Amino acid sequence: MTHGSQVVKRRGIGGLSAGQDEHRYKIQTVSQSREGTQVTAAIARLRLGHTTLSAHLHLLHWSRDPFCPWCRITSETIEHFLLHCPRFHTHHTAPRSRLSALAITTFNLPTLLAASGIHVHPSRQSAVLRLTCAFLRKTGQLPHL
Ligand SMILES: [Zn+2]
Repeated sequence: MTHGSQVVKRRGIGGLSAGQDEHRYKIQTVSQSREGTQVTAAIARLRLGHTTLSAHLHLLHWSRDPFCPWCRITSETIEHFLLHCPRFHTHHTAPRSRLSALAITTFNLPTLLAASGIHVHPSRQSAVLRLTCAFLRKTGQLPHL
């Protein structure tokens, strides 16, 4: 909600003389696609390796330790979060079985992030990314990535 109104405000400052209806439409569009934007941003951050997971924060000296808040003895790397953390074990099983249904047997970071056609055939990339997005939503960790 706050995000939506900020966008409208910024546009308002820019001097756009948009009507009431247009404003209302923009607020609605922004809030409806907010999760979508969050997921897209999260995928980009995961691909770049710039997340707020403990291992990266620790590297930047913004976190006391690199450990997963759930496991406590394992570094909270992107790989740990996406593939191994027992906290999300039930969420890991669905993408794994769906990938094998797509004839993709490698369950690793390059595959899940479908960053290039090398690891996932271009025709399968969007399907794979949908699975990863669904996983990210289910974990409820989007705001923390
Ligand atoms: Zn963990």
